[in-house]
Amino acid sequence: MYVDKVSLRNFRNYKDETIEFSKDLNIIYGQNAQGKTNIIESVFLCASGRSHRTSKDAELVNIDATGFSILLELQKAEDRKNIGIEYERGKKKIIKINEIPIKKIGNLMGNLLAVIFSPEDILIIKEGPSQRRRFIDITLCQLKPSYFYDLQQYNKILLQRNALLKEIQFRRNLLDTLEVWDDKIAELSSRIMIARNEFIGRLCEIAKKIHFKLTDGSETMEIKYSSSIDINNFSDVSQLKDEFIRQFSNVRASELKRCITLIGPHRDDYEMLLNGLSLKTFGSQGQQRTSVLSLKLAEIEIIKSETDQNPVLLLDDVMSELDFKRREFLLENIRNIQTFITCTDKDLFENRNFGDNLYIRVETGK
Ligand code: ATP
Ligand code: MG
Repeated sequence: MYVDKVSLRNFRNYKDETIEFSKDLNIIYGQNAQGKTNIIESVFLCASGRSHRTSKDAELVNIDATGFSILLELQKAEDRKNIGIEYERGKKKIIKINEIPIKKIGNLMGNLLAVIFSPEDILIIKEGPSQRRRFIDITLCQLKPSYFYDLQQYNKILLQRNALLKEIQFRRNLLDTLEVWDDKIAELSSRIMIARNEFIGRLCEIAKKIHFKLTDGSETMEIKYSSSIDINNFSDVSQLKDEFIRQFSNVRASELKRCITLIGPHRDDYEMLLNGLSLKTFGSQGQQRTSVLSLKLAEIEIIKSETDQNPVLLLDDVMSELDFKRREFLLENIRNIQTFITCTDKDLFENRNFGDNLYIRVETGK
């Protein structure tokens, strides 16, 4: 699939601009603070319903305006589609597919498949578990709308369950109602964890191969899922659900004391290892960056094989961070994938032809 064009109205520093793209390599260049990342952001927003930089839609509105709109046109095999996003300050944003508003944001998932790679992605390795969960959740949500709904529902129920645990301190008679919540949350937890376990397994298998090549066979990468319950002992959702319910009764006293849910996907993490050593603790800056590159390339492979579609690739400022060899490897591996690259120096690509390179110069939101 590829994005044909995007029209931005009052989005960030764009007042009213339509940008047409090449289905191969789009090199978005210009000086700092001109609006290059804003273009990438608008495309990612149409893929996932949210920005990769902020969770606040209001920040996306041009400071002089009361709302923004994006209209993105997409070519998918023989199909043409458009995705529209309209937002007015203080209101909920409206998402339209082929001009028809969708009822749930989950219906957007899968229409435009996008993989984004920006310098902040190194946080997947450096930061805490929530950054790592976010990475797999974004991909899984695009691939499986049912995962998106499970996760949305889970987060809602988790808040309600935690509120109930607090409330029980003052109203012991509410203790009986906890079981109803346990049952619901155990079911969702099991579905989410089984999906994550499968995904991490595949990610590990593919990223390992890519990373091995990328480092000339000197580094073996491994990814290990760590969850509150050792999932490998359970083969299906119902078995895992029963185990969750058992575990909830084991941790009941501590949960009531601390007033929080102590087990479940909100506590999941995964560890990345290079030659058996923790990448987070022992990896050099370059090793961490290269590992993120392997993860992203693996993500593309998984999307391709799950959907039979090439996702679009959004590379924000990453070229300047990679050395020559890794840059070449990346460019070789993204042939046939529509790619958007932001950079300050377009000369990096002058001798690289991808069929149809398009240079887009950005200056003050134009
Ligand atoms: P860099 O090379 O530094 O990454 P960039 O070209 O990617 O720069 P962007 O992040 O796309 O820059 O855009 C930044 C510009 O957009 C800044 O000038 C910023 O002030 C402006 N900007 C951001 N949000 C808004 C907004 N809501 N309204 C108006 N202008 C905005
Ligand atoms: Mg930028």
